[in-house]
Amino acid sequence: MARALVVEKTQDGATQASVQDIAATQLPPGAVTVAVEFSTLNYKDALCMGSGGGMVRVWPHVPGIDFAGVVEQSDDPRYAAGDRVILTGWRVGEARWGGYAELARVQADWLVPLPAGMTTRQAMAVGTAGFTAMLALIALEAHGLHPGQGEVLVTGAAGGVGSVATALLAGQGYEVAAVTGRPEAGDYLRALGAARIVPRAELAGTVAKPLESERWAGCIDNVGGAMLARLLGQMRAHASVAAVGLAGGAEVPLKITPFLLRGVNLLGIHSVDVPYIQRVMAWNRIASDLPMDRLEPMVQNCGLANLPELGRAILGGGIRGRVVVDVR
Ligand code: NDP
Repeated sequence: MARALVVEKTQDGATQASVQDIAATQLPPGAVTVAVEFSTLNYKDALCMGSGGGMVRVWPHVPGIDFAGVVEQSDDPRYAAGDRVILTGWRVGEARWGGYAELARVQADWLVPLPAGMTTRQAMAVGTAGFTAMLALIALEAHGLHPGQGEVLVTGAAGGVGSVATALLAGQGYEVAAVTGRPEAGDYLRALGAARIVPRAELAGTVAKPLESERWAGCIDNVGGAMLARLLGQMRAHASVAAVGLAGGAEVPLKITPFLLRGVNLLGIHSVDVPYIQRVMAWNRIASDLPMDRLEPMVQNCGLANLPELGRAILGGGIRGRVVVDVR
């Protein structure tokens, strides 16, 4: 038996989450069974603990889109009992049972080995949020970004992706301008390495002028919406924006001008089904380049039982940084 956070449909069509025992025979099919040590809380997890957000189709459901732990049993030659592994993405915790359980079973292709020098807890302090921030930086660098070109903007900076992006960029020598709607998060963001705090209101509003003064050498955007449209007009010539999130909305009232007159690039980032080699490279770079000591102050710990409450908080924009779930 394994302890798990199980979400069930109630008779009135609502959902209810509680910690229960599940049997190993209830786990979905897969070649590798993992004794989960840590998981995380992401916005998607909060949806999957509640209505399902259109992602969960079958109840009872075990959420948890990320986990790290130790292989308990493997039918795949790439993994053996005792190996430490990480899983992010592949719709685990959405379309199938995920990491909010002491045991998880998945396909071997979806796992990556835990990089040397990283603990399973550190891997989950990073989680999908940090992995996505790394993918965004890799994409920006592939399009010519390097330190010394000027300020790099991070929007939604006090959130999960934004916090890791800030620490990652600053650790690599980039000058980070962190956009936040929470004035009280200023000290926190400076401790992560932000050189400047940009109040959210400064980038709010509709695009009055399609091109404003050139300000940003690059951008990791977690907000989308009107803010993305606005900041595109403030990018330096040939600079790139990595489009990660839509915390501020999916409708982007775009003007084409920044693309045509400044050669600005908009790069899509999708973390769910990244090919194996790129996933391994990104995780190894996280292990070598992300200052883990900077990460620790942004982490709050919780157990399975606290998750429903914290899930409601993240949906309301009330979580700062990362939540690591100790599943053991
Ligand atoms: P969080 O909820 O932790 O952070 C989002 C942040 O965005 C908030 O902390 C807040 O930052 C800011 N924000 C929230 N609402 C608004 C608003 N209305 N206008 C402007 N800013 C706002 O989420 P994550 O960091 O985990 O994820 C960020 C986004 O990235 C989400 O949309 C998520 O779905 C997406 N995502 C995409 C992935 C991909 O593969 N492309 C992978 C992972 C996440 P502050 O308080 O500093 O203002």
